[in-house]
Amino acid sequence: MDAKFQRVALNDGHSIPVLGLGTYAPSEVPKSKATEATKIAIDVGFRHIDAAYLYQNEEEVGQAIRSKIADGTVKREDIFYTSKLWCTFLRPELVRPSLEKSLKKLQLDYVDLYIIHFPAALKPGEDLLPRDENGKVIFDTVDICATWEAMEKCKDAGLAKSIGVSNFNSRQLEKILNKPGLKYKPVCNQVECHPYHNQRKLLEFCKSKDIVLVAYAALGSNTNKQWVKKDNPVLLEDPVLNAMAEKYRRTPAQVALRYQLQRGIVVLAKSFNRKRMQENFQVFDFQLTSEDMKTIDDLDRNIQYFGGSTSENSPDLDD
Ligand code: NAP
Repeated sequence: MDAKFQRVALNDGHSIPVLGLGTYAPSEVPKSKATEATKIAIDVGFRHIDAAYLYQNEEEVGQAIRSKIADGTVKREDIFYTSKLWCTFLRPELVRPSLEKSLKKLQLDYVDLYIIHFPAALKPGEDLLPRDENGKVIFDTVDICATWEAMEKCKDAGLAKSIGVSNFNSRQLEKILNKPGLKYKPVCNQVECHPYHNQRKLLEFCKSKDIVLVAYAALGSNTNKQWVKKDNPVLLEDPVLNAMAEKYRRTPAQVALRYQLQRGIVVLAKSFNRKRMQENFQVFDFQLTSEDMKTIDDLDRNIQYFGGSTSENSPDLDD
């Protein structure tokens, strides 16, 4: 089957392409690069584009999508676009206005997927990361179930085809799943996931609830020097992944992506480089053996590239 059409079913009747383009780039990268990269990615075959209000690139990514629709490469319905509700908008009355802001920047009528970026609320306002005079992040107290109800209304209004979450642990997911009067379950949970942190337990939990796990930092990230922990080993230099890449005549990146696909995980890969985008897309024409899958499973060592996530210190969370 054509790689462009490989999708998995979501629990609300929609489906999601199994491989997505990550679009986050640090502030020193000119925003125009996101437009260029998204257009190239669509030409390469990517149909799933992952972005967020936080990345401040939705104007540029939207421009690329619209231009690829205008030139006849794709139709709007071929593209699966994800945006994320940032932590300063978790109060229920701010959810729809936030999505509308994203849609205005994108100049699109709807997003395919809208997800709560982190299970942590920050003080509303213009600052994406509000801090007090001592430099401490200012949290807000919001009932995540009330946020979820506002997400459900966005789906009912047709502004988001599907709704989900990101960076939730199983207990935080349970909070939503057990909410009295729940109308829609989250369709996905987007989390850091790669051979050094393979999320085996969370994956099992999500599968048992018919929630798709979406992997970010699947290549070991290294995108943002500020956020990403420095002393961690570089995933793509791992000797086991490299030996396996040699065995399959592939690259370590292709092995890392293929590993997730074979686990039933939807996987994101960020690249703004045409050659690497093509490489990342060539993961549908080989198969890792079950022994090799097990060998990669054994690389798990609880190494997370993203440290100090906002959720860790939030007073609203008790885990
Ligand atoms: P990633 O996809 O694991 O890695 C991206 C890095 O790998 C970039 O430096 C890229 O450089 C390089 N790269 C890409 N393909 C490669 C290849 N074939 N060989 C060698 N290097 C390669 O990391 P990420 O960007 O942190 O995560 C992916 C996406 O997930 C993000 O862009 C974003 O959309 C999403 N995300 C979500 C959250 C969340 O909280 N929900 C958090 C982080 C990320 P080049 O661009 O130069 O190729």
